[in-house]
Amino acid sequence: MNATALLALQDIDSALVAVANRRPRLSELAAHRAATAAVDAHLRSMAEAQARIDAAQASIEAAEHAATEITTKRTRLEAQLKTVIAPREAEALMHQIATLNEQRGELDDQELTALDEQGTAESDLAALGQALPVLEAQASTAEAELAKVTAVLDTEEADLRARRPEFAATLTEAETAAYERAKQHFDGVAIARLEGHRCQGCHLDLSAAEMDQVKATPEGAVPECPQCGRYLVR
Ligand SMILES: [Zn+2]
Repeated sequence: MNATALLALQDIDSALVAVANRRPRLSELAAHRAATAAVDAHLRSMAEAQARIDAAQASIEAAEHAATEITTKRTRLEAQLKTVIAPREAEALMHQIATLNEQRGELDDQELTALDEQGTAESDLAALGQALPVLEAQASTAEAELAKVTAVLDTEEADLRARRPEFAATLTEAETAAYERAKQHFDGVAIARLEGHRCQGCHLDLSAAEMDQVKATPEGAVPECPQCGRYLVR
């Protein structure tokens, strides 16, 4: 087994894992999400203000429509009043007219309240509309920042992937399979450097006898760490 190629492959694969792990943890990603959420929340508030304006408008129109009907009815009753002679009938008509006037007054109050609410909602909407561009600008800045760091990671990843075949090609199919198995077994790191007496995979020291064993490994074979079982490369 080509120990140098294995180690290089391991370094590349570990770097690829590191790049992949960095992507979801980017502070620029969190910032972009927060900025986008702020814009969404703002747009929802604007839609709510618009709905209040529309509801007030509907209420105003309904009050105006009802008021027109009352006016028509009252005009008819007033004309009728001029023609009646019997005092009782006249009294009944006057009572009906008074009731209509009362209803008309209530409708006017309803319309005024709705106009007031509409005015408030309109100024709320205007204020929200003024604040929106700032939030949108923040979101697009955040998006650009995210795109920039993502592009750096993309380049890093592409470089790593471009370098990988050179080392992967030196391994036989069986070695590749063994490497992939070991990598899975050892949580991504199948190959460890032996620095001094210490395995950099498990960070345990090898005894003198174990060091001798490692040194005695024949050419072409890769020794394993007696503690953790990772392939050891010096
Ligand atoms: Zn070890």
